[in-house]
Amino acid sequence: MLAVTLLAAQGLVVPTTTPSRARARARMSAEPGTVPDYRALTDAEWRERLGEKEYQVLRKEGTEPAWTSPLNDVKESGVFTCAACDSPLFRTSEKFESGSGWPSFWAPTADEALELKTDYKLLLPRTEVLCAACGGHLGHRFSDGPMPTGQRYCMNGVALRFSSETDDPEEAKRAAASFATSALARRPPLAAVLPELVLGSLLVLGELIGLLARGPAAGAGWAAAALPWLPPGGLAGAVLGAFGTTVVTRNVGLLLASQEDDE
Ligand SMILES: [Zn+2]
Repeated sequence: MLAVTLLAAQGLVVPTTTPSRARARARMSAEPGTVPDYRALTDAEWRERLGEKEYQVLRKEGTEPAWTSPLNDVKESGVFTCAACDSPLFRTSEKFESGSGWPSFWAPTADEALELKTDYKLLLPRTEVLCAACGGHLGHRFSDGPMPTGQRYCMNGVALRFSSETDDPEEAKRAAASFATSALARRPPLAAVLPELVLGSLLVLGELIGLLARGPAAGAGWAAAALPWLPPGGLAGAVLGAFGTTVVTRNVGLLLASQEDDE
């Protein structure tokens, strides 16, 4: 429990008011009937269960300052669980360096682990991410993430706890099994790939028609009419054409790779 110790050392969790993971797990496995109904807990009960920073984020939709979470640096294989209810949410395998200052993932461990809601706090709609088990606020989801989902789950580190595969191999195994069946992880990223694919194809096609219109077809009526609409010829055209080819090749590759994963 190095990560929790680290969190405690930085004052991010208050051990006296935070139910320990071990205790939560013991409660769940030994007496399943006594697992609290997290959805029914009152605000006062949450205040008592959570440290102040956890409470502000999880229950009051607060945002921790960027670059403050020790979880930003976690690279070790393992599972990120909800700091309020211990439910497994993310894995290190789907974590990526977003440069945002908050721990970021491209997919959760399971489709049903999270609940999504639209919020209008900054006027423009944003997708709020909540823990499906306890309803705690975790962060937001943006659609500028990496493949294969194109999603960025931008999480508050204080709303998560990390347990490494070494510390809890069983937890890691369960999370891997649920991730393997997650539709989100396997969904072909067509929607994410399509915009770049269309733009790249237009560039390549434009250059090819341009070559024809400036070369063999020069003087023909359609070539003269098309020229003002075509990308530039010469060196600039060659660069644009090469760029378009790169974009098309990359996106077709991603599309094919995601479909192989699907099988
Ligand atoms: Zn939770």
